[in-house]
Amino acid sequence: MKFGGTSVGGKQAIERTIGIVRGRLSQRPIVVVSAMSKVTDFLYTVYDAIDSADSSLLEERLRELRARHLSVVNELISDPFWREEAASRVEALAASITMSSSMASVISKGEYLSSNIIVCAMNSLGIRAAWLDARSYMVTDEDALKGEPDFDEICRRAPKEIDAAFSGQDVVVTQGFVGISKNGTETVLGRGGSDFSASITGMAVDADVIEIWTDVDGVRSADPRKVPATRCIPKISFEEASEMAQFGAKVLHPRTIEPAVRKNIPVVVLNSMNPEGEGTTILQGKYIEDGPKSVSSKEKIAVVTVSGEAMENPSALLSSLLSVLSEKRVSVDVVAVKEDCIIFTTDSLDRIQGACKLISEFAEVSVSEDYAQISVIGKNVPQLKTALRGASAHVAASPIMYLSRTPSFVNISFVVPKAAACEVINDIHKYIFE
Ligand code: ADP
Ligand code: ASP
Ligand code: MG
Repeated sequence: MKFGGTSVGGKQAIERTIGIVRGRLSQRPIVVVSAMSKVTDFLYTVYDAIDSADSSLLEERLRELRARHLSVVNELISDPFWREEAASRVEALAASITMSSSMASVISKGEYLSSNIIVCAMNSLGIRAAWLDARSYMVTDEDALKGEPDFDEICRRAPKEIDAAFSGQDVVVTQGFVGISKNGTETVLGRGGSDFSASITGMAVDADVIEIWTDVDGVRSADPRKVPATRCIPKISFEEASEMAQFGAKVLHPRTIEPAVRKNIPVVVLNSMNPEGEGTTILQGKYIEDGPKSVSSKEKIAVVTVSGEAMENPSALLSSLLSVLSEKRVSVDVVAVKEDCIIFTTDSLDRIQGACKLISEFAEVSVSEDYAQISVIGKNVPQLKTALRGASAHVAASPIMYLSRTPSFVNISFVVPKAAACEVINDIHKYIFE
């Protein structure tokens, strides 16, 4: 069971979350928690103080960090023993951030703070809850801010560590987001990584189900912050959910589905503010009906156009291009090969300039960040490709139009000017779903 930032954001949210966990105790739940909402963002500003060698600013920010967590402890836990225990754990964690802390170490403290407070609160309410350091099993490579988990090593370590933690206890509480490299360096899995932590943990212990508890009623037909009339999707395939997450639906970390698929474990997305709701069940494709499920968008992308004489031999150009992109670790979302150019989109905004320098040695290249990428996801939807051009003039004019070539055709993506993105999403949502 993974609980996101808003599900552990304060007294009421934590009480609701504990109530939900209490209802599952007979199933031996492993609870993976995020930092309280906004805490990870705040920890970046704590690290800024370290980075700028400003120790009095660091003290000031740590006071704020302590105050936010201690006020939750005081409101939430009435039992004096457990209140004292939680407060001393908060103090110790805040004190562990020093001028020599690494960025990964600092930004992972949010999960350590929330998980300790929740364990103390559970015990104060008579639930036998063990606290487990996820770094006892969540092994990654050396990339401190976007650690690549080592699934095999995690599958070796997690069952032992988690079993040991369960001894004499009803529930084990651990942290999302955090990891440790093989050399013992603190790492994190990248922003929003707690979903990924939960599904990796579920995979490693062969869980019956991976529950992602968040602040909306399941996976919806579009981002509810952009489209007013979204619908909940009761069932969706692994492939569709994975594609949605990779193509902009922020409700799940893009890699959440991968570990679940390995062991064929259903993922259920639920609302901690409305625990009775059905939510969304993510399953193998054979149980899922054909048809469009959602429209999503990605705004932080670049559209890269590669052209010039090199287009006389497009396959050679494509192969040089792919080797540069792989060398520079630029991830590509969609590619279109045209008569006179190759166009692709990427969200690796920090790496694309370095790649373009190399590409410019063998072709002309231009980069634009003025576009947003819109994706319609659903099983077997190729016929929609033409229909969508009628839904919005921007779609008809799009310089890139992509249809996934997987056997179940789950993704149609195109780019439109950023300024028009919200209107296009709403037009398409109306056309398909309303
Ligand atoms: P958590 O802190 O629980 O991980 P997130 O903020 O990361 O929660 O993700 C939940 C949010 O994702 C929702 O509040 C919603 O605004 C947003 N969202 C974007 N696209 C979708 C979608 N297709 N379905 C549901 N929620 C979505
Ligand atoms: N706390 C981390 C973040 O804000 C991880 C997560 O919430 O999933 O990115
Ligand atoms: Mg999230």
